[in-house]
Amino acid sequence: MSIKINPDRPLLVGPEKPHEPFPFALEGTVVKGYGRGSKQLGIPTANLSDEAIATMASGLETGVYYGWTQIGERGSTVYPMVMSLGWNPYFKNEQRSAEVHIIHEFPDDFYGISIRVLVLGFIRPEQNYPNLDALITDIRTDIEVAKQSLARTHYTELKEHGLFA
Ligand code: ADP
Ligand code: MG
Repeated sequence: MSIKINPDRPLLVGPEKPHEPFPFALEGTVVKGYGRGSKQLGIPTANLSDEAIATMASGLETGVYYGWTQIGERGSTVYPMVMSLGWNPYFKNEQRSAEVHIIHEFPDDFYGISIRVLVLGFIRPEQNYPNLDALITDIRTDIEVAKQSLARTHYTELKEHGLFA
């Protein structure tokens, strides 16, 4: 499996300070996904419940985003994340789907737990890939983009946002 990143993509995206529509807050629970096997690719994605997606449907376009996330109790650790917002093929692409890869290694699954997501910036539109390797390379790159973009002062300080307190 490839762990390359794409050298042609910038690793810092978005302005120095998040601006509209960010920060964009989402809250819901982690639900079962569609068995697309993201965990087998080394990139598990926590699928958000419908109520979380509903709050976002009006506000954000389809694509890949970065920001902070917290699972379980408020006050617990806040992690960097990348989120893919797309259309759900199970509902004839009339309903959105949102999947969050938390940039942290967890020992166990956490289905059914509460999740809060603070979306801070847009990385790129959705894309079709010629092969799995190209997809994985782009997701690995998204993860690097998220880490570096979140390291800036005005992004780091939003770990203390009221959503997580
Ligand atoms: P599904 O299709 O059910 O979403 P995935 O292969 O995408 O299955 O795995 C997602 C599940 O893996 C999450 O719901 C969560 O319980 C678990 N998980 C473990 N580590 C992570 C992580 N770093 N980010 C997101 N989910 C994780
Ligand atoms: Mg998933």
